[in-house]
Amino acid sequence: MEPIRIAAEKDIPQCARLLALLFSQEHEFAPDKKHQEQGLGMIVGHPSAGTIFVCEKEGLIVGMVMLLSTVSTALGKKAALLEDMVVSPEYRGQGIGSRLLEHACDWAVRQGFGRITLLTDGDNEAAHRFYAAKGFARSEMVVFRKPLPMPEVPEAPPHTIGQAGCVLPAWICEECGYVYDPSEGDLEWNIRPGVPFERMPAEWCCPVCSAPRDQFRLFDSQL
Ligand code: FE
Repeated sequence: MEPIRIAAEKDIPQCARLLALLFSQEHEFAPDKKHQEQGLGMIVGHPSAGTIFVCEKEGLIVGMVMLLSTVSTALGKKAALLEDMVVSPEYRGQGIGSRLLEHACDWAVRQGFGRITLLTDGDNEAAHRFYAAKGFARSEMVVFRKPLPMPEVPEAPPHTIGQAGCVLPAWICEECGYVYDPSEGDLEWNIRPGVPFERMPAEWCCPVCSAPRDQFRLFDSQL
């Protein structure tokens, strides 16, 4: 039987491809490779955010599931949101989804989680039966969502660019070598020239490799 393991950085592209399959099935979501890779990058290697489990067969990731970490004040314990359960279509019907789910549940018990919550499409009865068979009970709670706009990028004070002796430092992505130069901004993220690295929006990440901002260090072109 193919082993189930925790996803690593190198698995992100394959996981993003699986998510594209999932989001093309779900009513509320549409696939977007950049967003999926960005989101996965916020979880892989960040256990406080969550843990992704993958099932690999001959070098190919054929299924995944993730547990996002949250807290239940009702239980006074960690609680998990189970998300992005997907098995590649050609590998369905082999029990891979069951094994992934059971593996994730066992792991959560060992880690001291007190509850797992998940959402499915309201009309996906196969999924309802699947989760019910695994001990999940349907909740009477109803989901509400509010999409949030991109935050306003703060207007850079005029003295931050172009004046001698007040050049803002550039930062380099340690993953891919991309350099954020405040005098140029970042077109990809709609960051206008003059925004210092420290004032970039919190969700900004490397426009090339999607590495999070903590993967950047000060770039000294003299070195
Ligand atoms: Fe990068």
